[in-house]
Amino acid sequence: MKVLEVRGLTTRFYTLEGVVKAVENVSFEMWGGKTLGLVGESGCGKTVTALSIMRLIPQGEIVSGNVRYKGRELLKLPEGEMRRIRGGEIAMIFQEPLLSLNPVFTIGNQIVEAIVVHKRTSRMEAESFMIKLLELVGIPSPREMAGCYPHQLSGGMRQRVMIAMAISTQPSVLIADEPTTALDVTIASQILELMRELQSKFKMSILLITHDLGVIAEMADAVAVMYAGEIVECAEVGHLFKKPLHPYTKGLLECLPDPVRRETYLKTIPGHVPDLRNLPSGCNFQDRCPYAIQVCKEAKPHLVDVGSGTFVSCHLYQEEL
Ligand code: SF4
Repeated sequence: MKVLEVRGLTTRFYTLEGVVKAVENVSFEMWGGKTLGLVGESGCGKTVTALSIMRLIPQGEIVSGNVRYKGRELLKLPEGEMRRIRGGEIAMIFQEPLLSLNPVFTIGNQIVEAIVVHKRTSRMEAESFMIKLLELVGIPSPREMAGCYPHQLSGGMRQRVMIAMAISTQPSVLIADEPTTALDVTIASQILELMRELQSKFKMSILLITHDLGVIAEMADAVAVMYAGEIVECAEVGHLFKKPLHPYTKGLLECLPDPVRRETYLKTIPGHVPDLRNLPSGCNFQDRCPYAIQVCKEAKPHLVDVGSGTFVSCHLYQEEL
């Protein structure tokens, strides 16, 4: 079942130096029990896309587009109703839980608060549910740990607490924004395993934001690659790894360490993501693209269906060529 549908989402920030085109005409769909990976370098608009879905853009403006959650248009909902959906039906976990948890309340208190607000249960019921949740996410001695403050826990335990809080309302959609980036490899893999288990238990749809293609390969069913605020390729995960089409996707995959190649230096994509206040005319990737041709400087490519459920935005695949 289609749970979330994003169409033509465009978000801008207005600064003294100019208009930042953070998210431009982004479209994708999320299906029940499936994971969509949103991948790209830092500054490509992944987090702003997620925050736009949640309508958490106080310093910017969602200029246009639609975000339909189970058929309801979120961008037009009154703020009161949106508050019920945000954190209740669509939950989010962040890269660094220490910045998201409140340092002056115990973790138990913070989870109970989320349950009371969203599920409208009594405090006593919420407390016993909170202990069950801590157990479920693998926190040892949950009763004692519930009385700890965030700084008393390790990074992995804090991320488990964030996950417990996010799933406390049994959301249909979980947005996980770089959930393992701040963790070491072993703990990161435990957190991913936990997310997978919870997804199959609750049939959640997950939007997994990461710059790590290894995490995408392990977790995602489909992938949307973002560059300079736009989706440049969208495909089923197996297709993307087997036959990447967009030069940026190819570049990202070539940057992955390959034990067979045994190179001294890891490959990189030369250059930087362009300034989102001053994007070039034509393709945003032109200055870094080894395949650029004249038309890339003159006209913007748009996403086209190239079959097998793959969409790509590149002049090499546009029909007129
Ligand atoms: Fe490269 Fe041109 Fe394709 Fe852009 S449109 S990715 S510059 S080939």
